[in-house]
Amino acid sequence: MIPASLDYVAPTSIPDALSALANGGDEAKVIAGGQSLMPVLRLRLAYPTTLVDLRNVADLRGVREDNGDLVIGAMTRHCDVITNGLIAQHAPLIAAATKTVADPAIRHRGTFGGALSHADPAGDLPAVTLALDATFVVEGPGGRRTVPASEFFVDYLQSALAPDELLVEVRVPKLTGWGVHYEKFQRVAQAWAIVGVAAAVRMENGAIAEARVGLTNMGPTPVRAAAVEAALAGIAAEPGAVGAATAATAEGTRPPSDLGGAADYRQHLAQVLARRAVLAAAGSE
Ligand SMILES: Cc1cc2nc3c(=O)[nH]c(=O)nc-3n(C[C@H](O)[C@H](O)[C@H](O)COP(=O)(O)OP(=O)(O)OC[C@H]3O[C@@H](n4cnc5c(N)ncnc54)[C@H](O)[C@@H]3O)c2cc1C
Repeated sequence: MIPASLDYVAPTSIPDALSALANGGDEAKVIAGGQSLMPVLRLRLAYPTTLVDLRNVADLRGVREDNGDLVIGAMTRHCDVITNGLIAQHAPLIAAATKTVADPAIRHRGTFGGALSHADPAGDLPAVTLALDATFVVEGPGGRRTVPASEFFVDYLQSALAPDELLVEVRVPKLTGWGVHYEKFQRVAQAWAIVGVAAAVRMENGAIAEARVGLTNMGPTPVRAAAVEAALAGIAAEPGAVGAATAATAEGTRPPSDLGGAADYRQHLAQVLARRAVLAAAGSE
Protein backbone atom coordinates (compact mmCIF):
# COMPACT_ATOMS: atom_id res chain seq x y z
CA MET A 1 0.00 0.00 0.00
CA ILE A 2 1.03 3.61 -0.39
CA PRO A 3 0.25 6.38 2.09
CA ALA A 4 -2.93 8.42 1.69
CA SER A 5 -2.34 11.76 -0.05
CA LEU A 6 -1.10 14.55 2.19
CA ASP A 7 0.53 17.97 2.23
CA TYR A 8 4.27 18.00 2.79
CA VAL A 9 6.29 20.85 4.27
CA ALA A 10 10.00 20.96 5.12
CA PRO A 11 10.64 24.05 7.29
CA THR A 12 14.18 25.21 8.09
CA SER A 13 13.68 26.54 11.63
CA ILE A 14 12.00 25.45 14.86
CA PRO A 15 9.50 28.37 14.84
CA ASP A 16 8.51 27.52 11.24
CA ALA A 17 8.12 23.85 12.13
CA LEU A 18 5.88 24.77 15.07
CA SER A 19 3.78 27.07 12.85
CA ALA A 20 3.41 24.31 10.27
CA LEU A 21 2.27 21.93 13.01
CA ALA A 22 -0.21 24.50 14.37
CA ASN A 23 -1.54 25.27 10.88
CA GLY A 24 -2.04 21.56 10.20
CA GLY A 25 -4.11 21.16 13.37
CA ASP A 26 -4.83 17.71 14.80
CA GLU A 27 -4.11 16.07 11.46
CA ALA A 28 -0.50 17.28 11.19
CA LYS A 29 2.37 14.95 12.01
CA VAL A 30 6.11 15.40 12.36
CA ILE A 31 8.46 13.16 10.40
CA ALA A 32 12.12 12.76 11.41
CA GLY A 33 13.99 9.78 9.90
CA GLY A 34 10.72 8.13 8.88
CA GLN A 35 11.92 4.67 9.97
CA SER A 36 8.94 4.11 12.27
CA LEU A 37 6.45 6.54 10.75
CA MET A 38 6.74 5.55 7.09
CA PRO A 39 5.68 1.92 7.68
CA VAL A 40 2.72 3.22 9.70
CA LEU A 41 1.71 5.57 6.86
CA ARG A 42 2.14 2.88 4.23
CA LEU A 43 -0.13 0.55 6.19
CA ARG A 44 -2.55 3.47 6.60
CA LEU A 45 -2.55 2.96 10.35
CA ALA A 46 -2.19 6.76 10.47
CA TYR A 47 -3.27 9.21 7.78
CA PRO A 48 -2.16 12.74 8.64
CA THR A 49 -3.18 15.43 6.18
CA THR A 50 0.10 17.35 6.68
CA LEU A 51 3.58 15.96 7.17
CA VAL A 52 6.09 18.36 8.75
CA ASP A 53 9.56 17.10 7.82
CA LEU A 54 12.30 18.17 10.27
CA ARG A 55 15.23 17.17 8.04
CA ASN A 56 16.20 20.79 7.20
CA VAL A 57 16.00 22.18 10.75
CA ALA A 58 19.73 22.47 11.51
CA ASP A 59 19.08 23.66 15.10
CA LEU A 60 17.70 20.22 15.95
CA ARG A 61 20.93 18.42 15.02
CA GLY A 62 24.21 17.87 16.82
CA VAL A 63 25.74 17.21 20.23
CA ARG A 64 27.15 19.80 22.61
CA GLU A 65 28.11 20.29 26.26
CA ASP A 66 26.22 22.67 28.52
CA ASN A 67 26.59 23.12 32.28
CA GLY A 68 27.80 19.59 32.98
CA ASP A 69 25.19 18.04 30.70
CA LEU A 70 25.51 16.53 27.29
CA VAL A 71 22.85 17.93 24.96
CA ILE A 72 21.78 15.77 22.02
CA GLY A 73 19.64 17.37 19.31
CA ALA A 74 16.49 15.44 18.43
CA MET A 75 17.43 15.16 14.73
CA THR A 76 20.87 13.67 15.43
CA ARG A 77 20.94 10.43 13.45
CA HIS A 78 21.76 7.11 15.11
CA CYS A 79 24.93 6.77 12.98
CA ASP A 80 26.16 10.18 14.20
CA VAL A 81 25.41 9.30 17.84
CA ILE A 82 27.55 6.16 17.51
CA THR A 83 30.60 8.05 16.21
CA ASN A 84 30.29 11.21 18.34
CA GLY A 85 33.31 11.88 20.56
CA LEU A 86 31.41 13.67 23.34
CA ILE A 87 28.91 10.83 23.64
CA ALA A 88 31.76 8.29 23.68
CA GLN A 89 33.39 10.21 26.52
CA HIS A 90 30.43 11.20 28.69
CA ALA A 91 27.51 8.91 27.80
CA PRO A 92 28.95 5.74 26.26
CA LEU A 93 25.84 3.79 27.30
CA ILE A 94 23.89 5.71 24.64
CA ALA A 95 26.42 4.79 21.95
CA ALA A 96 26.48 1.15 23.09
CA ALA A 97 22.69 0.82 22.87
CA THR A 98 22.44 2.76 19.59
CA LYS A 99 24.92 0.37 17.95
CA THR A 100 22.34 -2.41 18.50
CA VAL A 101 19.47 -0.49 16.85
CA ALA A 102 18.34 -2.20 13.64
CA ASP A 103 20.85 -2.23 10.75
CA PRO A 104 23.21 0.36 9.22
CA ALA A 105 20.66 1.57 6.64
CA ILE A 106 18.06 2.33 9.33
CA ARG A 107 20.72 3.89 11.57
CA HIS A 108 21.65 6.27 8.72
CA ARG A 109 18.13 7.70 8.60
CA GLY A 110 16.63 7.09 12.04
CA THR A 111 17.15 9.78 14.67
CA PHE A 112 17.73 9.90 18.42
CA GLY A 113 14.69 12.12 18.96
CA GLY A 114 12.48 10.13 16.60
CA ALA A 115 13.22 6.90 18.44
CA LEU A 116 12.39 8.54 21.79
CA SER A 117 9.27 10.40 20.57
CA HIS A 118 7.97 7.11 19.18
CA ALA A 119 7.99 5.81 22.81
CA ASP A 120 8.21 2.15 21.84
CA PRO A 121 9.08 0.16 25.00
CA ALA A 122 10.85 -2.36 22.71
CA GLY A 123 13.10 0.43 21.38
CA ASP A 124 16.60 0.36 22.82
CA LEU A 125 16.99 4.04 23.66
CA PRO A 126 14.06 4.83 26.02
CA ALA A 127 15.38 2.56 28.82
CA VAL A 128 18.82 4.10 28.42
CA THR A 129 17.57 7.68 28.84
CA LEU A 130 15.57 6.54 31.87
CA ALA A 131 18.62 4.93 33.48
CA LEU A 132 20.70 8.05 32.78
CA ASP A 133 18.12 10.45 34.30
CA ALA A 134 17.92 12.38 31.05
CA THR A 135 15.70 15.43 30.64
CA PHE A 136 13.63 16.02 27.50
CA VAL A 137 13.40 19.58 26.18
CA VAL A 138 10.08 20.09 24.42
CA GLU A 139 8.87 23.18 22.55
CA GLY A 140 5.33 24.12 21.61
CA PRO A 141 3.29 27.26 20.90
CA GLY A 142 3.61 28.29 24.57
CA GLY A 143 7.41 28.03 24.63
CA ARG A 144 9.83 25.46 26.03
CA ARG A 145 9.32 23.04 28.90
CA THR A 146 11.41 20.21 30.30
CA VAL A 147 10.18 16.72 31.06
CA PRO A 148 12.23 14.19 33.06
CA ALA A 149 12.65 10.80 31.37
CA SER A 150 10.66 9.25 34.22
CA GLU A 151 7.61 11.27 33.03
CA PHE A 152 8.21 11.31 29.28
CA PHE A 153 7.14 7.73 28.51
CA VAL A 154 3.47 7.68 29.42
CA ASP A 155 2.16 4.42 27.94
CA TYR A 156 2.69 2.06 25.00
CA LEU A 157 3.75 4.30 22.04
CA GLN A 158 2.61 7.35 24.02
CA SER A 159 4.91 10.12 25.17
CA ALA A 160 4.29 13.32 27.10
CA LEU A 161 4.50 15.29 23.81
CA ALA A 162 1.33 17.17 22.86
CA PRO A 163 0.39 17.01 19.15
CA ASP A 164 1.57 20.60 18.62
CA GLU A 165 4.91 20.11 20.37
CA LEU A 166 8.37 19.11 19.15
CA LEU A 167 11.05 17.24 21.01
CA VAL A 168 13.96 19.66 20.57
CA GLU A 169 16.82 18.04 22.47
CA VAL A 170 17.68 15.65 25.28
CA ARG A 171 19.95 16.67 28.15
CA VAL A 172 21.97 13.86 29.67
CA PRO A 173 23.98 14.32 32.90
CA LYS A 174 27.57 13.23 32.23
CA LEU A 175 28.54 9.90 33.77
CA THR A 176 32.24 10.23 33.07
CA GLY A 177 34.26 7.33 34.43
CA TRP A 178 31.33 4.97 34.94
CA GLY A 179 31.42 1.48 33.44
CA VAL A 180 28.52 0.78 31.11
CA HIS A 181 26.99 -2.10 29.19
CA TYR A 182 23.86 -2.69 27.10
CA GLU A 183 22.83 -6.35 27.03
CA LYS A 184 20.26 -7.08 24.32
CA PHE A 185 18.66 -10.46 23.74
CA GLN A 186 17.27 -10.81 20.23
CA ARG A 187 16.15 -13.70 18.06
CA VAL A 188 18.39 -12.77 15.15
CA ALA A 189 21.04 -10.12 14.59
CA GLN A 190 19.72 -6.58 13.94
CA ALA A 191 16.27 -7.42 15.36
CA TRP A 192 14.28 -5.74 18.10
CA ALA A 193 15.04 -6.69 21.70
CA ILE A 194 13.05 -9.49 23.27
CA VAL A 195 14.48 -7.97 26.45
CA GLY A 196 17.30 -5.47 26.91
CA VAL A 197 19.15 -4.25 30.00
CA ALA A 198 21.04 -0.97 30.20
CA ALA A 199 23.53 -0.85 33.08
CA ALA A 200 25.88 1.84 34.35
CA VAL A 201 28.12 1.23 37.35
CA ARG A 202 30.44 3.46 39.37
CA MET A 203 33.14 1.52 41.15
CA GLU A 204 34.93 2.64 44.32
CA ASN A 205 37.68 0.65 46.06
CA GLY A 206 36.79 -2.48 44.13
CA ALA A 207 33.09 -2.41 45.06
CA ILE A 208 29.99 -1.06 43.30
CA ALA A 209 29.34 2.40 44.73
CA GLU A 210 26.33 3.29 42.54
CA ALA A 211 24.42 1.54 39.77
CA ARG A 212 21.76 2.46 37.21
CA VAL A 213 19.64 -0.20 35.55
CA GLY A 214 17.00 0.33 32.81
CA LEU A 215 14.89 -2.38 31.20
CA THR A 216 13.76 -2.59 27.56
CA ASN A 217 10.51 -4.34 26.58
CA MET A 218 9.47 -5.22 30.12
CA GLY A 219 6.19 -3.28 30.14
CA PRO A 220 4.21 -0.68 28.21
CA THR A 221 6.94 1.85 29.03
CA PRO A 222 10.65 1.45 29.74
CA VAL A 223 11.32 0.42 33.34
CA ARG A 224 13.89 1.58 35.90
CA ALA A 225 14.91 -1.31 38.16
CA ALA A 226 15.16 0.82 41.30
CA ALA A 227 15.16 -2.09 43.78
CA VAL A 228 18.07 -3.70 41.93
CA GLU A 229 19.99 -0.41 41.91
CA ALA A 230 19.56 -0.14 45.69
CA ALA A 231 20.62 -3.76 46.22
CA LEU A 232 23.77 -3.26 44.10
CA ALA A 233 25.08 -0.27 46.06
CA GLY A 234 28.06 -1.25 48.20
CA ILE A 235 28.44 -4.87 47.09
CA ALA A 236 31.44 -6.60 45.52
CA ALA A 237 31.30 -6.87 41.74
CA GLU A 238 31.44 -10.64 41.71
CA PRO A 239 28.95 -13.10 40.19
CA GLY A 240 27.38 -14.40 43.41
CA ALA A 241 26.70 -11.02 44.99
CA VAL A 242 25.54 -9.41 41.73
CA GLY A 243 23.33 -12.43 41.01
CA ALA A 244 21.65 -12.02 44.41
CA ALA A 245 21.19 -8.25 43.90
CA THR A 246 19.68 -8.68 40.43
CA ALA A 247 17.31 -11.51 41.48
CA ALA A 248 14.50 -8.96 41.84
CA THR A 249 14.91 -7.48 38.34
CA ALA A 250 11.45 -8.58 37.18
CA GLU A 251 9.67 -7.18 40.24
CA GLY A 252 6.87 -4.83 39.20
CA THR A 253 7.38 -5.40 35.46
CA ARG A 254 4.53 -6.14 33.01
CA PRO A 255 6.23 -7.57 29.92
CA PRO A 256 4.18 -8.57 26.89
CA SER A 257 3.51 -12.15 25.78
CA ASP A 258 4.00 -12.36 22.02
CA LEU A 259 5.84 -14.31 19.33
CA GLY A 260 9.13 -13.18 20.89
CA GLY A 261 8.36 -14.94 24.18
CA ALA A 262 5.88 -15.34 27.03
CA ALA A 263 5.80 -12.79 29.85
CA ASP A 264 7.24 -15.23 32.44
CA TYR A 265 10.06 -16.15 30.03
CA ARG A 266 10.88 -12.46 29.64
CA GLN A 267 10.87 -12.00 33.42
CA HIS A 268 13.39 -14.82 33.82
CA LEU A 269 15.46 -13.43 30.94
CA ALA A 270 15.53 -9.94 32.45
CA GLN A 271 17.10 -11.32 35.63
CA VAL A 272 19.76 -13.25 33.69
CA LEU A 273 20.57 -10.27 31.44
CA ALA A 274 20.68 -7.82 34.35
CA ARG A 275 23.31 -9.94 36.09
CA ARG A 276 25.35 -10.10 32.87
CA ALA A 277 24.97 -6.39 32.13
CA VAL A 278 26.00 -5.27 35.62
CA LEU A 279 29.03 -7.58 35.73
CA ALA A 280 30.11 -6.39 32.29
CA ALA A 281 29.63 -2.74 33.26
CA ALA A 282 31.71 -3.35 36.40
CA GLY A 283 34.42 -4.92 34.24
CA SER A 284 34.02 -8.32 35.90
CA GLU A 285 32.87 -10.40 32.93
C1 LIG B 1 13.15 -2.90 10.34
C2 LIG B 1 13.33 -1.97 11.51
C3 LIG B 1 14.03 -2.43 12.61
C4 LIG B 1 14.19 -1.59 13.72
N1 LIG B 1 14.88 -2.08 14.79
C5 LIG B 1 15.04 -1.32 15.87
C6 LIG B 1 15.74 -1.80 17.01
O1 LIG B 1 16.29 -2.90 17.04
N2 LIG B 1 15.81 -0.98 18.09
C7 LIG B 1 15.25 0.27 18.11
O2 LIG B 1 15.36 0.94 19.13
N3 LIG B 1 14.61 0.76 17.05
C8 LIG B 1 14.49 0.00 15.94
N4 LIG B 1 13.84 0.51 14.84
C9 LIG B 1 13.27 1.89 14.89
C10 LIG B 1 14.35 2.92 14.53
O3 LIG B 1 15.18 3.10 15.65
C11 LIG B 1 13.77 4.33 14.21
O4 LIG B 1 14.85 5.12 13.90
C12 LIG B 1 13.04 5.03 15.30
O5 LIG B 1 12.06 4.25 15.88
C13 LIG B 1 12.29 6.26 14.80
O6 LIG B 1 13.18 7.25 14.46
P1 LIG B 1 12.89 8.16 13.21
O7 LIG B 1 13.84 9.29 13.28
O8 LIG B 1 12.92 7.32 11.99
O9 LIG B 1 11.42 8.70 13.54
P2 LIG B 1 10.11 8.78 12.62
O10 LIG B 1 9.76 7.43 12.11
O11 LIG B 1 10.24 9.86 11.62
O12 LIG B 1 9.05 9.24 13.72
C14 LIG B 1 8.63 8.37 14.75
C15 LIG B 1 7.55 9.07 15.58
O13 LIG B 1 8.11 10.12 16.36
C16 LIG B 1 7.54 11.39 16.01
N5 LIG B 1 8.65 12.34 16.02
C17 LIG B 1 9.84 12.16 15.42
N6 LIG B 1 10.68 13.17 15.73
C18 LIG B 1 9.99 14.01 16.53
C19 LIG B 1 10.32 15.23 17.20
N7 LIG B 1 11.54 15.80 17.13
N8 LIG B 1 9.36 15.83 17.96
C20 LIG B 1 8.12 15.27 18.05
N9 LIG B 1 7.76 14.11 17.47
C21 LIG B 1 8.69 13.48 16.72
C22 LIG B 1 6.88 11.19 14.65
O14 LIG B 1 5.78 12.06 14.47
C23 LIG B 1 6.44 9.73 14.74
O15 LIG B 1 5.23 9.63 15.46
C24 LIG B 1 13.65 -0.28 13.72
C25 LIG B 1 12.96 0.19 12.60
C26 LIG B 1 12.79 -0.64 11.50
C27 LIG B 1 12.06 -0.12 10.32
